[in-house]
Amino acid sequence: MTSIATARTVADLRAQVGAWKQAGERVAMVPTMGALHEGHLSLIALARTEADRVVASIFVNPTQFGVGEDFDAYPRGEARDAELLAGAGCDLLFAPGVGEMYAPGFSTTINVAGVSEPLDGAARPGHFGGVALIVAKLLIQCGPDVAVFGEKDYQQLQVIRRLVADLDIPTRVVGAPTARAADGLALSSRNAYLTPAEREIAPALAAALAEAGRRLRAGESVERVEATGLAALERAGFGKIDYFEVRGAGDLARLGPGPIEGEARILAAAFLGRTRLIDNMAVG
Ligand code: AMP
Repeated sequence: MTSIATARTVADLRAQVGAWKQAGERVAMVPTMGALHEGHLSLIALARTEADRVVASIFVNPTQFGVGEDFDAYPRGEARDAELLAGAGCDLLFAPGVGEMYAPGFSTTINVAGVSEPLDGAARPGHFGGVALIVAKLLIQCGPDVAVFGEKDYQQLQVIRRLVADLDIPTRVVGAPTARAADGLALSSRNAYLTPAEREIAPALAAALAEAGRRLRAGESVERVEATGLAALERAGFGKIDYFEVRGAGDLARLGPGPIEGEARILAAAFLGRTRLIDNMAVG
């Protein structure tokens, strides 16, 4: 069994990162909520190519979960996660308790207007406020040269890019490609909630996005492609579909209704039973 140094407090995190920086080493950070899978480990691998030292954080952040969402049920297993991180070559785990991150009297909020508002911002009110707050805190606490986030959560990545630019946080944000199962399903900690029958349906989400990309590249209109994507998900057996939309790749502004111009991204979120899956793909 391999073990990994673990910091529980901001003071301990800063002491370790400070020592590395003093020695001239570059530091990368990979924030996570734990329940680690190969997608997270691919971020650690990318972080290792960007810096001399890698810090991963595990914090299931209460402020990014809405009322009735899965905060209490979210899978937790720090011992297993710590072993995976050590095996992946991570140097330090930062795993603070809720009290360390939100002390009594905590009052600050962050709102990244614009890019936070559509899609998951509309479907999960308050979610990106919680994400922006915790990411700002983690980057200020750790002070990494580089921070790696997955394109799996594409809107989150764009919100974080905006946040870091607007607040002059001296960290370079790097996006990592989505790690997928062999059948195309994007790896996610929430896939553990799927029943065997739902797991069989789940790859239809990635398949619908890929098909939408082909249609857009062939010149089909945004309006038609979105309608076809929604119908494909319904046919496959998805329940509530929060969105299946083609958006501008940077600001996530609405496109269409005609053929796309410029860089676009197709994003979708839909439920299988009680599990909400999200995925996205580049067009072209
Ligand atoms: P989470 O633990 O779900 O909050 O995710 C932590 C980080 O891992 C975020 O930057 C996610 O975008 C990223 N991530 C999650 N799933 C994947 C995946 N399948 N491929 C690449 N990155 C991922």
